[in-house]
Amino acid sequence: MSKPLVEIPAELANILRRAQRLTVLTGAGISAESGVPTFREAQTGLWARFRPEELATPAAYQRDPRLVWEWYAWRRELTAKAQPNPGHLALAEIERHIPHFSLITQNVDGLHQRAGSRQVLELHGNIQRVKCMDGNHLVENWDDSVEIPPRCPLCGSLLRPDVVWFGENLPVKALQAAWDAAETADIFLSIGTSTQVEPAASLPFAAKRCGAVIVEVNPQETPLTKSAQYSLRGRSGVVLPALVQPTWG
Ligand code: NAD
Repeated sequence: MSKPLVEIPAELANILRRAQRLTVLTGAGISAESGVPTFREAQTGLWARFRPEELATPAAYQRDPRLVWEWYAWRRELTAKAQPNPGHLALAEIERHIPHFSLITQNVDGLHQRAGSRQVLELHGNIQRVKCMDGNHLVENWDDSVEIPPRCPLCGSLLRPDVVWFGENLPVKALQAAWDAAETADIFLSIGTSTQVEPAASLPFAAKRCGAVIVEVNPQETPLTKSAQYSLRGRSGVVLPALVQPTWG
């Protein structure tokens, strides 16, 4: 028999099999294998001279709305072409086995839903949605032949992506649901996140304080690693299928 690429402790497979309440937090790393760059890698080619922190802010949009709109148009196209990878698919599979499952994501790419995940809490919005600055109207069709950014057909204010920029508040309901899911979890998986962007970074620590077993999946060490009972060092597209296989395979 061939040796599995990732060694999953048998004890962890048992804990997962018995789990009643499982909460997952994902970050940009889970989509890296779908070709969606993480923030640290995102700035290539045309965009290499900008830092994301300088583009993903209300101040950046006020200063140069065209530049910010075009950066998001590029990323919107990139994510629309991307496909869910085995990591996304494994999470959709795990959801089918757990009575109370929540998937909290910081990603704006919608790949979890496209992989079949149903209980998804989007903390930072979704890049495929566009809304207007003044009325918060969600707009599906716009005309960018006259002006960039285009304007809202309902109120005339400028359009922007429906994502949470640095310095903006997170959606209240999704954030409250995320805290509840963290604090009531018996097992908490933190996947592909640098655990540096607040408030999401506090969720696994809150789960731990409330008694959850913490599992981290990341090729790199993060501020969470020392607090995790299981640190699975590898790419989520490899580790997550390897976790599902011995547990429910
Ligand atoms: P981050 O870029 O700060 O960190 C990514 C983490 O993923 C790192 O710890 C890295 O080691 C890990 N990683 C890289 N490749 C991996 C792989 N194959 N498998 C598992 N882990 C891998 O991302 P973050 O923690 O999500 O926070 C930054 C912000 O970036 C978030 O607010 C998020 O909204 C935004 N963002 C989202 C997307 C997306 O929607 N896909 C892309 C870029 C940035």
